Amino acid sequence: MNERKFEQLELSAPIQRALSERGYTKPSPIQAKAIPLLLKGGDLLACAQTGTGKTAAFALPLLHNIASCGRKPFRRGVRHLVLTPTRELAGQVADSFKIYGKYIKFSTGLVYGGVSEKPQIKQLFQGLDVLVACPGRLIDLMDQGHVDLSQVETFILDEADRMLDMGFIRDIRKIESKLPKKRQTLLFSATMATEITKLGQAMLYKPDEVRIAPQGSTAEKVDQQVLFLGKNAKQKLILDMLHRRFDDNQEELSLIFTRTKHGAKNLAKKFIQEGLSADSIHGNKSQSAREKTLDRYRQGEIDILVATDVAARGIDVKNITLVVNYDLPMEPDAYVHRIGRTARAGKSGQAISFCTEEEVALLRQVERLIKKPIPVKRDHDYHLQEVEDLHTSKRPVKKPAQGRRSGASAGSRSRGRPNRTANKRGKPFRSGAGGNGGSSERTSSGRRNYQR
Ligand code: ADP
Ligand code: MG
Repeated sequence: MNERKFEQLELSAPIQRALSERGYTKPSPIQAKAIPLLLKGGDLLACAQTGTGKTAAFALPLLHNIASCGRKPFRRGVRHLVLTPTRELAGQVADSFKIYGKYIKFSTGLVYGGVSEKPQIKQLFQGLDVLVACPGRLIDLMDQGHVDLSQVETFILDEADRMLDMGFIRDIRKIESKLPKKRQTLLFSATMATEITKLGQAMLYKPDEVRIAPQGSTAEKVDQQVLFLGKNAKQKLILDMLHRRFDDNQEELSLIFTRTKHGAKNLAKKFIQEGLSADSIHGNKSQSAREKTLDRYRQGEIDILVATDVAARGIDVKNITLVVNYDLPMEPDAYVHRIGRTARAGKSGQAISFCTEEEVALLRQVERLIKKPIPVKRDHDYHLQEVEDLHTSKRPVKKPAQGRRSGASAGSRSRGRPNRTANKRGKPFRSGAGGNGGSSERTSSGRRNYQR
């Protein structure tokens, strides 16, 4: 553990002030390593577990640069460009810049799809010190001549491995082709498989590489468990778990991941019917509804958020103490990111994964990635020994299909904050939230709805 203090990192005084106001006393390991390297101006590939402060690791040196150089962006120009895979994460990263740069004069912009272009075009017209964007909308605005990337000084990919995978790579290449050759490029993520690392390195010039933990490492303080059960028992078990949790008067937040948008919507609806305080967030919701739901969840107005992988990466919400993989993810890295929504900034948390016979192959690929077995929780009402046996046996299991597309159509929103005292237990259950298809959507303005 690095015992350095922020003062030793030579960041400008207004930044130090914002940090101490925020209660940051010492840099996290990734911050302690990355910040000095970035202040020197080199390229960087950085990998550190979820919740360890990667945002500040790239934002602080960038803000320091803005504070100390005094150069102004020119019309439609952007000095520092950060790309993220989801709109919610883009908003959160832009907010972090504002928090850390509270005492610095600089301009930030936010560009993503699903909302009107007009205010974004207006923001860009003046030129921006920092632009946080999702690739799809940025390309739309670029093609229309509303943004000029020819003088970008720093190019950052947050959740870099996701940005370089097949859902985004074409857009990234297109954006990269508009950037000047001479620039600083930074890649940050909690997961970075070898193939992706190679792809990323091709974008970098003599990069430094910082890896705080081996590839696939989960956040240190997550207590992980897996439950083996039948497909039709999932809904009853989750209801039992959540009722028990809230009967015990827990004020903490829970985050439940499903594989499909419909699954998320239906499960949240079920929770509400059962008197729980829940809502969902997924790609079939309008952007404003997604933002509103996330805000209410952040404020603690809803206790349970049911989400697709659109909420798997980057989202930082205090007080999430339980993550449930209601369905295991199709791609193993998503597991690391999903459970990383808890146990952030040194806190601890719990992650429970449901595994049916059909999901044993998915569980195996997760365990291969994180390089350890997930401890089994044997809940006697639900435990299916034959599924556990299938998992522990060396028998081949059906491989998960990769890269599926979902034909899910638009769905209605389920919201509201019902009275928790209206709990109804032991209702008959049905399985409804499983099924095919991906859940993590492209963030472009609806041209493609890429599914993982
Ligand atoms: P990551 O991108 O690595 O998942 P974030 O940048 O979202 O992590 O930060 C996770 C949480 O840790 C945020 O709530 C942030 O405010 C907090 N945090 C970051 N750096 C520090 C620090 N040095 N001291 C205390 N809290 C920090
Ligand atoms: Mg992050």
